[in-house]
Amino acid sequence: MTALKPPTRAGTLDTMTTAARPAFTGPSDLHMHSNHSDGTQPPAEVVRQAHAHGIRTLALTDHDRTTGWDEAAEAANRLGMTFLPGMELSAKHEWRSVHVLGYLFDPTDPDLIAETDRIRGDRIGRAERIVRNIGRDYDLTWDDVLAQTTADATVGRPHIADALVARGIARDRAHAFDGILHPREGYYEPHYAPDPLTAVRLITQAGGVAVIAHPATGRDRMMPLATIERLIAAGLGGLEIDHRENTAAGKRMLREIAARHDLIVTGSSDYHGAGKPNRPGENTTSDDMVARIIERATGTPARHP
Ligand code: AMP
Ligand code: FE
Ligand code: FE
Ligand code: ZN
Repeated sequence: MTALKPPTRAGTLDTMTTAARPAFTGPSDLHMHSNHSDGTQPPAEVVRQAHAHGIRTLALTDHDRTTGWDEAAEAANRLGMTFLPGMELSAKHEWRSVHVLGYLFDPTDPDLIAETDRIRGDRIGRAERIVRNIGRDYDLTWDDVLAQTTADATVGRPHIADALVARGIARDRAHAFDGILHPREGYYEPHYAPDPLTAVRLITQAGGVAVIAHPATGRDRMMPLATIERLIAAGLGGLEIDHRENTAAGKRMLREIAARHDLIVTGSSDYHGAGKPNRPGENTTSDDMVARIIERATGTPARHP
């Protein structure tokens, strides 16, 4: 009896690429943090959590660093998920902190590496200055903060918050941010960050897709329209609209801008493990928008299972 040979694995993949099947499956969560920045879990655990919440395509977007990519990619592959390497680049417009998500850029781009090295380096000195300020009034030392960070982490106020919690000075991160870490309390220090125009250009020139993270987190924090339009002219790819911190009025305004300029629109959780109440998949990005990000990027490929 001549049995039909089952298709080889390579044959199956060939069929998949010729049939117009998307190379990934949603639901997609494109903004998640590990303990390489201010999330509380290692990259592989972030991926497992995403999967357990029904997510099938995810991006790891640690602040100002890409060191979590390999571990996340491997975990995603084991679970049959698509992985988009990403980063949340710190920027600053006047006094406002602006976060720019970058997807599928070349992680070896020298200009981008120089800028993220500079930001992370300055973040450490800045965190030490904040801790020195707090130490004048509270029993908190730099060692307390070091005890809350992994060797590889981008150090930020969340780690100082964790140290305040460990010391019994704050209840949780949110309590620390509303109190001691709030600029009005007088302990705050800024850190170096490029302007958003530079951030968008760096990501774009490295072959990535730049998306402004949570652009409308409050009335005084909505990025001015003229600024957004300058960023679009500089290569901005999209806006993160479905995010729990964007206001309803802000989301409406952002949708109008996105439609007018045919921008990519994303939705994500901004998961930080135990560091924030945000749950994986609480907001998601549509398949056609993920496809647009993948098609537009030239810096590094998405990792399909
Ligand atoms: P930094 O960049 O060091 O000034 O700290 C800002 C980071 O703190 C952001 O990436 C947020 O993820 C985190 N953050 C801000 N507000 C809160 C909050 N209320 N609870 C927990 N994390 C927060
Ligand atoms: Fe964060
Ligand atoms: Fe952010
Ligand atoms: Zn974030």
